[in-house]
Amino acid sequence: MALTAEAIVVGGGVIGASTLFHLSALGARRVILCERRQPGAGASGKSGAFIQLHFCLNLPEVQMTLASLPYFRRWHELVGAGSCGFVPAGYLRLEPPARAAKLRERVALLQPLGVETGALTPDDVARLAPYLRLDGVAAAAYEPTSGHADANATLAGFLAAAGRRGGEVLTATTVTAVRVAGGRTVGVETTAGPIDAPIVVLAAGAWSPPLLRDLGLAVPIAGALTQWLGFAVPSLPPALMTVGDGVSGSYFRATAPGAYEILIGLGGMGRQPLGDPDADTGTVPELLVTVAGERLAARLVGAAGARPTGGQIGPVTLTPDDLPIIDRHPGVADLFYFAGDCGTSFKTAPAIGRAFAEWALLGASRSVDVTPFGLGRFAECV
Ligand SMILES: Cc1cc2nc3c(=O)[nH]c(=O)nc-3n(C[C@H](O)[C@H](O)[C@H](O)COP(=O)(O)OP(=O)(O)OC[C@H]3O[C@@H](n4cnc5c(N)ncnc54)[C@H](O)[C@@H]3O)c2cc1C
Repeated sequence: MALTAEAIVVGGGVIGASTLFHLSALGARRVILCERRQPGAGASGKSGAFIQLHFCLNLPEVQMTLASLPYFRRWHELVGAGSCGFVPAGYLRLEPPARAAKLRERVALLQPLGVETGALTPDDVARLAPYLRLDGVAAAAYEPTSGHADANATLAGFLAAAGRRGGEVLTATTVTAVRVAGGRTVGVETTAGPIDAPIVVLAAGAWSPPLLRDLGLAVPIAGALTQWLGFAVPSLPPALMTVGDGVSGSYFRATAPGAYEILIGLGGMGRQPLGDPDADTGTVPELLVTVAGERLAARLVGAAGARPTGGQIGPVTLTPDDLPIIDRHPGVADLFYFAGDCGTSFKTAPAIGRAFAEWALLGASRSVDVTPFGLGRFAECV
C-alpha cells in the first residue's frame, strides 16, 4: 500500500530541507522528504556557505538574500533546532579599476534597501584590514554584518525543526518519477514504493534534469563541478573577515573563528563541466591548488607558503543568466521545482523554502516575489 502525505519534497539538500521545514511550520500535516542517499549528499554538504549581498546579481536576488538573512542571524528564534553556525565576520568586496563604478552602483542599490554597506577607498581598507595586500584594488565595499554559516549544521537544523513538527525524511529513497493524473500531481514513484500526495516540490540539484525532462520541462541548466580549497597558515588575525577578491576572482574566509585555516574558492576559474553527477564526483586539479595558493599569498599577509589541507568539490547547476529557476509546472497543478542553483543558493535557501511552502499551501509566495525567477524569462524554452 502506498504511503500518503500532504506534500512530498524530492532532495535532501538545503533547498529541500528548508522547504520541508517551512511546509511543516505552515501546518502541513504530513510532509515526506525523499533523499536518494543521505541529506547533504549533493552540493549542500560541500558548500562554502558564504552569505553576503554584494555577490547578488540583481534586485530580486538581493531581496531573496535579505529575506534569508534573518534566519541565519536569528536561527534559534525562527527555526529553533540546532544552530546554523552563522559567523558575522563581515564581508569585504575588493574591485579593480574597471569595476569600481559598478561597485559604487551596487552600494547605491543596496543602501536604500536597508543593507548595512558602504563604499571604501583602498586607504580605508588598509586601516580596516591591515592584514590584506591591496595590489590592484581601486575600490571596495564593506558589509559589517554579513559572513558565513555552516552548511551541514544548517541542513541538520532545518531537518530537526521539521521533524519536531511531523516532517519526515526517507533516506536511501530515490524518486524515479512524479505521478500525474488529470492534470495534477498525485505523488511519486520511489525505489521504496509509491507515495501519494497532492503536492510535490522537486529540489534534486544536479540530478534534476531527467526528472524535469520526464515532466516535459525543458530547463536550460548545465551541470558544473565547483570547489573550495583549504590552506593551513601559521597565524591569522583574530577578526579576519570574509573577502570577495574581485581582482583575482577568488573569495576566502577562515574555516572557523580562531582557526589557522583558510577556505578559498576560485569562482568561474574553478568550474569544470559536469557529466554524470554520480560518476563525476571529481578531484580538485593540482593546478587549482597552485593557483589558489598563489592568489591567497598575493592578498593575505603571512599566507606565503600556506600548506594545502584539502577542500571540497561538488556539483552545481548553471542557468544562462546565473540566477536560479523557482517555478511551478505550467500544466501540472501543485508541482513545484527548483533548478539552476548557480553555485550561490545556500545563502537564499531559507527564503526559497518558505516561498515554496507558501505557494503550495497558501496559493502564492507572500514573503518574497518569486516571479522574476520563473522559467518564462528564458522565452525560447517555453
Ligand atoms: C564547493 C561549493 C561551494 C559553494 N559555496 C557556496 C557559498 O559560499 N554560498 C552559497 O550561497 N552557495 C554556495 N554553493 C552553492 C550551494 O551549496 C548550492 O546552491 C545549494 O547547496 C544547492 O542546494 P540544493 O538543495 O538545490 O541541491 P543539493 O544540495 O545538490 O541537493 C540535492 C539533493 O537531491 C538528492 N537527489 C537527487 N535526485 C534525487 C532523487 N531522484 N530522489 C531523491 N533524492 C534525490 C541528492 O542526493 C541531493 O542530496 C557552493 C556549492 C559548492 C559545491
